[in-house]
Amino acid sequence: MTIRYDGKVAIVTGAGQGLGRCHALELAARGARVVINDLGGAADGTGGSSEAALAVVAEIEAAGGEAIANGANVAKYDEVEAMVKQTMDQWGRVDILVNNAGILRDKSFAKGSLDDFKMVLDVHLMGSINCIKACWDIMRAQEYGRIVVTTSSSGLYGNFGQTNYGAAKMGVVGAMNTLVQEGAKYNIKVNALAPTAATRMTEGLMPQEALDLLVPEKVTPAVLYLVSEDAPTRTILCAGAGGYSVTRMIETEGIYLPEGEQTPEAIAANWDAITDPSGEKALQAGGEQGFKFVAKAAQALGIG
Ligand code: NAD
Repeated sequence: MTIRYDGKVAIVTGAGQGLGRCHALELAARGARVVINDLGGAADGTGGSSEAALAVVAEIEAAGGEAIANGANVAKYDEVEAMVKQTMDQWGRVDILVNNAGILRDKSFAKGSLDDFKMVLDVHLMGSINCIKACWDIMRAQEYGRIVVTTSSSGLYGNFGQTNYGAAKMGVVGAMNTLVQEGAKYNIKVNALAPTAATRMTEGLMPQEALDLLVPEKVTPAVLYLVSEDAPTRTILCAGAGGYSVTRMIETEGIYLPEGEQTPEAIAANWDAITDPSGEKALQAGGEQGFKFVAKAAQALGIG
C-alpha cells in the first residue's frame, strides 16, 4: 500500500451503505480517521436511522481503525456545519471530503413533480455544496484539501426518467470546474467520480450476472486515487467492474463567419465545419472560449 492516509481526516457522506461505505472502509484501512455520515433513509430519501452509520463505525473499529458516526442530512446546512464542528472537535482537521450521499426520485419529465425535482437537487447538488462550503475555509487555512463530488453517467450523457438526477449530477461538475480554480492556490484539489456499481440504487436495473461484476469495491480505488496526496484535479474519473476511464467536456475549433454571413442560414450551411471534431479541445476555463472567438474575429477583420 504506497497510497496511505495516515494523519488525514476524511468525511464521507452517505457512508452507511453502498459505495460510501466501501470508500470509508478502504480509507480507514489505509490510515484515515473517517466520519461516517449517513441519514439512514430509504432510497428515495424518506425516513432516517443512525443504525447504518453506527454499523460501519463498528466495522472500522473492529479492524483497528478510527471512525465516528454522524447523522446529518447533507441537504441542511446547519446539520452539515454541526458535522464539521464535530469533526474539528474530535480530530482538529478535515483533509478529505467525499460527497457521496444520494437519493433517487425517477420519473419521466412529463410525470415527475417539481417537488421531487427540488428534493433531488437539494440532496445531490446543494448537499455537496453545503459540505464543501462548511469545509472550504478549513482546507484553505490548512493549505490542503482533497474533495470528490459524485457525478453520474446519467448526468454526463442522460438517462430516461432521470432529468432531476441528471441536472443535479451535472451541477456538481459545474461547481467542480470553478472550485479547482479557486482552490488551486491553497492546494485544494477537486475531482468528480462517475461510478457504476451494484447497490440498492441499481437493484433490478441490470441482469444479476452484470451486477455480480459491478461490486462497489471495484469503484473505490478510483476515489482513493482522487483524494490521495498526488491526486489530479478537475478530473471526471469513471469506474465500474474494474474498468476506469476519463470523461472530458470538449469543444470543436469552430469557424468564423464573416460579416453579413452571421445568420442562422449560414450556420446551417456550415454545420459540418462547426461540428468538425478535428482540432477539438478540452478548455480549462470559460474565458478560453471568448478569447478563441475574439482571436478568430480579429484575425478575419485584420485587427489587433
Ligand atoms: P445507496 O443508496 O446505496 O447509498 C446512498 C447513501 O446516501 C445511503 O446510505 C443514504 O442513506 C445516504 N443518504 C441519502 N440522502 C442523504 C442525505 N440527505 N444526507 C446524508 N446521507 C444521505 O446508493 P449508492 O449507489 O451507493 O450511491 C452513492 C452515490 O453514487 C450517489 O451519489 C449516487 O447518485 C452515485 N451513483 C451511483 C451509481 C451506481 O451505479 N450505484 C451510479 C452513478 C452515481
